[in-house]
Amino acid sequence: MDLNELLAQAREHYIAARPEGARLHAEARRVMPGGNTRTVLYHPPFPLRVASGSKQRIVDVDGHEYVDLLGEYTAGLYGHSPEPILDAVRDAMTEGMSMGAHNRYEAQLARLLVDRFPALELVRFTNSGTEANLMAIALARVATGRPAIGVMRGGYHGGVLYFGGAGSSPVNAPFETVVMEFNDVEGARDAIRQNADRLAAVIVEPVLGSGGVILGHEEFLTALREETAANDVLLILDEVMTSRLSPQGAGALFGVVPDLMTVGKYLGGGLSFGAFGGRADLMNRFDPAEPDALPHAGTFNNNVLSMAAGIAGLTKILDDDRLKELNRRGALLRAELEGVMVPHGWSVTGRGSMVGVHPVEGPVNTYADVAAADERVRELLYLDLLERGYYMAPRGFIALSLEITDEDVEGFVRAVADALSSRS
Ligand code: PMP
Repeated sequence: MDLNELLAQAREHYIAARPEGARLHAEARRVMPGGNTRTVLYHPPFPLRVASGSKQRIVDVDGHEYVDLLGEYTAGLYGHSPEPILDAVRDAMTEGMSMGAHNRYEAQLARLLVDRFPALELVRFTNSGTEANLMAIALARVATGRPAIGVMRGGYHGGVLYFGGAGSSPVNAPFETVVMEFNDVEGARDAIRQNADRLAAVIVEPVLGSGGVILGHEEFLTALREETAANDVLLILDEVMTSRLSPQGAGALFGVVPDLMTVGKYLGGGLSFGAFGGRADLMNRFDPAEPDALPHAGTFNNNVLSMAAGIAGLTKILDDDRLKELNRRGALLRAELEGVMVPHGWSVTGRGSMVGVHPVEGPVNTYADVAAADERVRELLYLDLLERGYYMAPRGFIALSLEITDEDVEGFVRAVADALSSRS
C-alpha cells in the first residue's frame, strides 16, 4: 500500500472512532474559521478535542485516553491541574479578580524570576510569550535608535514573529529583519557586522522550538553574544520554551547572558502568561515615575490568576532536583527513540525535556534540515500513536511534564517502535 492509501486508511480509522469529535468540529466550523482559534492545533481530518486532563493523562470527547507527551508545547510542565496550583487560583479568585490596581502577587512572582534567571535584573509581565517578545523588540529599537532585528530562519517568537516556511509569515509584525541561519557561526557574525548600523537586536531561541527542536550549538550562541556586544547590538534570548532546560534557564547552560530575555509558558503555572526583562538600564526605560518613560500597557498583565499560579508552581511544585530529573528523563527518551527510529530513517532532536522527531536522515543542525520532511509521514506516525494511546504534536514535538514517569517513557518508545515496524 502506498503512503497516500495508508494515510487515507488511518484517517478513516480516526474518524470512525470519534463521532463526537466530528460533531463538535462541524459545529465549531459554523462560528469559527476552520472551527479553530489556534492554528497549531489544527490537523486533518479534524483535530483532537480534549474533554479533560489529569496529571499526565488526557481524555478526548469520545472517551479515548492518552498519555500526554505534548505537555501543551512546554506550558504544561506541571501536568494537568496540579493541586497546589488549583488551590492558589481558587484562593486568588475568592479574594477578587480584575481589581484594576496593583495586587500582592505581581512583585512576588517578579522576585522569583529575578532570583532564578541571571539575565533578569528587572522584569515586566505580559499576557503571552508573543507580547513579551514584541515588547523586548520594541524596547531594543527605542534604546538603540535602530529599526531592524536579526532573526533565525525557522525561528518562532509568536504568531506575528515567525520566520519559518518561506522565511517570514504574511501576518508578521512589520519589522525590518535580517535573517540568519541557525548554527551558522560565520554567517551570523558576517550578518551582524554588515548590518550593525541598522540592527537594534538579534533575537534567538537557544533551542529552535517550533522550528524543529534543534539544539543551538554552544559556539553559535556564544558567537552571537560576542558579535552583538562587539557591534553594540542587543541580544534577546527567547526562553519562552527553553527556560525549563535548567534551573537558571538555557542561557546558563551555554554561559550566555543576554541583554534582554523573554519567558512564558509554565512560569505562569499553566495560565496565560509572558514576561520580558533584562539589564536594569534598559528596563528602567519603563519606570513610569520618570518623565520620559516608555508606556507598557495590558489590562491583564498582572492578573491575579496567572500571578498566583506562577508563584505556586515555583514555590510549591518545582525545585531544582525535580527539574534536573525531568531533563534527565528527556535525555533518556531521546536516546531510546534514536534506537528505534534512526533505523527507519528518522532523526531525534532536542535537549533535556524538549524532544523532536523528524522523518529525515540526520544530522539535524538547522531549520532547512527538517523543513523538507514529508508531512504525510509525520501525520501517519501521529495517528498511529493516538491509536496506541499516546499524544504528541502532529509535527513531532514532545515536551515532558513532571507527571510523566519512566514507565510512560518506556511505553511510548514501545508504541513508536511498534508503529514504525507495522508500516515498514
Ligand atoms: N517564543 C517561543 C520560543 C515560543 O515557543 C512561543 C510559543 N510557542 C512563543 C514565543 C509565543 O508564546 P505565546 O504562545 O504565549 O504567545
